[in-house]
Amino acid sequence: MTTKGCGPSAEEIHAFPKVVLHDHLDGGLRPETMLDLAQAAGHRLPTADPDALGRWFVDQASAGSLPAFLETFAHTVACLQSRDALARAAREAVVDHARDGVVYVEIRYAPELHVAGGLTMQEAVEAVAAGLDEGIAEARREGYSIRAAALLTAMRQADRSAEVAALALANPDMCVGFDIAGPEAGFPPSGHAEAFTLLRDALVPVTIHAGEAAGPDSISEAVSIGAARRLGHGLRILDDIEDPIGEPRFGKVAAFVRDNRIPLEICPTSNVQTGAASSIARHPVTVLRDLGFTVTINPDNRLMCGTTTSREMGLLVEEAGWGVADLELASLDAARAAFQPLDVRQEIAEAVFKGFEGVEP
Ligand SMILES: [Zn+2]
Repeated sequence: MTTKGCGPSAEEIHAFPKVVLHDHLDGGLRPETMLDLAQAAGHRLPTADPDALGRWFVDQASAGSLPAFLETFAHTVACLQSRDALARAAREAVVDHARDGVVYVEIRYAPELHVAGGLTMQEAVEAVAAGLDEGIAEARREGYSIRAAALLTAMRQADRSAEVAALALANPDMCVGFDIAGPEAGFPPSGHAEAFTLLRDALVPVTIHAGEAAGPDSISEAVSIGAARRLGHGLRILDDIEDPIGEPRFGKVAAFVRDNRIPLEICPTSNVQTGAASSIARHPVTVLRDLGFTVTINPDNRLMCGTTTSREMGLLVEEAGWGVADLELASLDAARAAFQPLDVRQEIAEAVFKGFEGVEP
């Protein structure tokens, strides 16, 4: 393990090719863009100064619980109720990831949250898809090479998941998979069994937020009822391992997740903000990595977390002793876990591999 302070520099991390599997469209808006969109939508924001607004989101989201964290989305969602707003948010998200050194990103959003201004869910899907394409083109003009894809999310506290699943089935060119998000405790995957049956029968890839605000039971349902191929966060899988840093004894769920190499979409800062982890230094991701779990590093909500993928990796280097090899493996594992055909995954992995060539471990 690399000792504190000896890992790669912020500049090096920025230059490493990175792969993002867990990033929310409504959690990644630029503060300046929010001000424009809020004005167009007639929505009142807490402040009209972009820097202060950025700080406001981070402070609010740091209240220490998932429900408090989720409250901040009322503002971003209110601004994302038109075709132009959705397309702009998607375009800027891709450009911002590209500028951060990301070579592949899956951006997720909940179509059902973007219909208050009169759009249909189908129109919301089309708007985001167009925005992603525009973002890829704009990033290319800036000299970056990035791939981007969308995941459709259903809100777990609502009852539209079967509709959203049907939307995913109907739009294979505009999304690569399905997710459920929102308050985890009290809203388990079993409440969305109809959606998961549809998706499983149609062989549509699924990732599920699980093991963030609830424990191994939620993860168990995600991989059984949900047939999830990846887990959003998943860090509380550690609750199913006795004595993890001594003589670990794996429970059934932990063994299943590790042994089947089900990737965990870890979002370190977000987990500290919601209280799922006590600090970056003590974040379960490091122990889980050492125990052989497949871990990937993601920003979750760049606005609310005040972060980027490079920053998340830098925090792990600074505070949890991660080294170059750890970052490379996380990015390679993310490339392999992308909801893409094998040849595309191999191309992304190759880009990651090349970017780390010659870097001192
Ligand atoms: Zn998330």
